[in-house]
Amino acid sequence: ERQKHIRNFSIVAHIDHGKSTLADRLIEYTGTLTTREMETQVLDNMELEQERGITIKAQAVRLIYKREDGEYILNLIDTPGHVDFNYEVSRSLQACEGAILVVDATQGIQAQTLANCYLAMGNDLEIVPVINKIDLPSARVDEVVKEIEDVIGLEAHTAPKVSAKTGINIVDVLDAVVDRIPQPKGEDDAPLKALIFDSYYDSYKGVVAYVRVKEGVIHPGKKIKFMASNKIYEVTEVGVFTPGMMPVEMLYSGDVGYVTGSIKNVRDARVGDTITDAANPAKEALPGYKKAIPMVFSGIYPIDGAKYEELKEALEKLQLNDAALSFEYENSVALGFGFRCGFLGLLHMEIIQERIEREFNIDIITTAPSVIYKVFRTDGDVIEITNPTNLPSPNEIEHMEEPVVKASIITPTEYVGAVMDLCQTRRGVYINMEYIEQTRAVLNYILPLNEIIYDFFDTLKSRTRGYASLDYEMSGYQKTTLVKLDILLNSELVDALSMIVPEDRAYTKGRNITEKLKEVIPRQMFEIPIQAAIGSKIIARETVKAMRKDVLAKCYGGDISRKKKLLEKQKEGKKRMRQVGSVEVPQDAFMAVLKVE
Ligand code: GDP
Ligand code: MG
Repeated sequence: ERQKHIRNFSIVAHIDHGKSTLADRLIEYTGTLTTREMETQVLDNMELEQERGITIKAQAVRLIYKREDGEYILNLIDTPGHVDFNYEVSRSLQACEGAILVVDATQGIQAQTLANCYLAMGNDLEIVPVINKIDLPSARVDEVVKEIEDVIGLEAHTAPKVSAKTGINIVDVLDAVVDRIPQPKGEDDAPLKALIFDSYYDSYKGVVAYVRVKEGVIHPGKKIKFMASNKIYEVTEVGVFTPGMMPVEMLYSGDVGYVTGSIKNVRDARVGDTITDAANPAKEALPGYKKAIPMVFSGIYPIDGAKYEELKEALEKLQLNDAALSFEYENSVALGFGFRCGFLGLLHMEIIQERIEREFNIDIITTAPSVIYKVFRTDGDVIEITNPTNLPSPNEIEHMEEPVVKASIITPTEYVGAVMDLCQTRRGVYINMEYIEQTRAVLNYILPLNEIIYDFFDTLKSRTRGYASLDYEMSGYQKTTLVKLDILLNSELVDALSMIVPEDRAYTKGRNITEKLKEVIPRQMFEIPIQAAIGSKIIARETVKAMRKDVLAKCYGGDISRKKKLLEKQKEGKKRMRQVGSVEVPQDAFMAVLKVE
């Protein structure tokens, strides 16, 4: 029957190993889009994704593959490859029976190759290794085959060896999908069970739920119930991704497609929920997804206080498409009304920040990111703190704990020393080291999350000439002596600049932050002392000298263009300033501070 000719699969890989390029080639080969329609990187359609070369939201597309034994429908779900977005990967995998594991022939197995592969195995998926980039002179195809067999334990001699760029052997990938990935199971006449693996808010259609129908059928006019929210809607449209949305009459069990129902509130149709038939409901919902838990929190404030409502609307809209983003109202003495937002990681935070500025045109200030600290109070209570301002005073704190991760770093052996050194300075605790063949090693460390959310990844890359890769997972909490480091501008405490730091780092950090602020805060009409303090104790101080009366006074005579330039520069500098107490602080000061060691 029809399910024999359906395959639902994902592509997983380490970042840059060629998932999106391979997806594009599969789309092109199967003629889903004509070459003319084919823009480069069709699946990475969000502007930001293209710029950063990463895939943020999972995307789905239906491919029609014709071969001698018939016509196959291959539903491809693209997944992101960055560690911040692992939750999206696991969501997408639940909609599939198999996964293509792309491995770059010049790089071999990397940290997220392993992490994503284990994720897929954990979901009982059939894994089809594909070796990519064989067109490159530095490709080490045979070695990579051996790595896959030795390290992951998958048979890889018969793995398709392709170039997603030039298109060599792409048909092998399609055949492997058809031959090796199991067909979907499920009965069309059973009560409806459809898994929502993604959703999107469309201003005309309302919430568009991306679904995998596991049992039953779904069609326009049917009354459906969302099992978690208990909300009932009438289906207005169902369809498939070609890759645009194309309406069809019906989705059957085994199909991947979308469902709309004039759903205005995305909370009624949450990702991970099960859609069932309102008249003939399934007894049990499908097992839910791993919930996305924000791990990094920071304050987001409009530079122009009057844009608070707009910012709120922007966050609400972003949340429609991003289940992992959380936010709640927050009030800062320095910055006024804003929001404490929760993110999966720093990349996620930067993306949200950029989208607010670009897509919604709101200039914002983001405060130093914080992890979730557990505070054990002397009165026996345990509280969780995500905003340093809320930290109780030291005499109310018995002790504190911070989250730690288990990090796996894969590196060529020549950089093992450099990597160990880095982990050491970031308070890492060495677990062990294993070899992948002779030239590469996996280093396992326990590291405080706080130490890796800032610039750990960039530093790791630069110390290993880009060769090391990183993956990490939460591994609990550990006791640490932490203090609240405050920053004062012109003797006024700027709550938005406070941060929680390990006690033995506080002095260095305080000194570096005051120095950095001195660089980024422009001269003003008066002298500005910049101080770092722990409690009432000042531990570092710098001063921004008062501005000369008139910057233009320097330009004697009639050099108009120079004057113009100076004025423009001043205006530019003013554009993103925020009045904090008596001092004007540029927007990037807040970002600069958090990049300080
Ligand atoms: P993703 O992060 O896994 O989605 O990787 P992309 O598909 O974005 O590819 C990362 C980079 O590798 C891009 O610059 C691609 O052009 C390049 N790339 C992908 N496949 C191949 C290939 O087969 N050969 C070569 N030479 N480059 C490739
Ligand atoms: Mg990609």
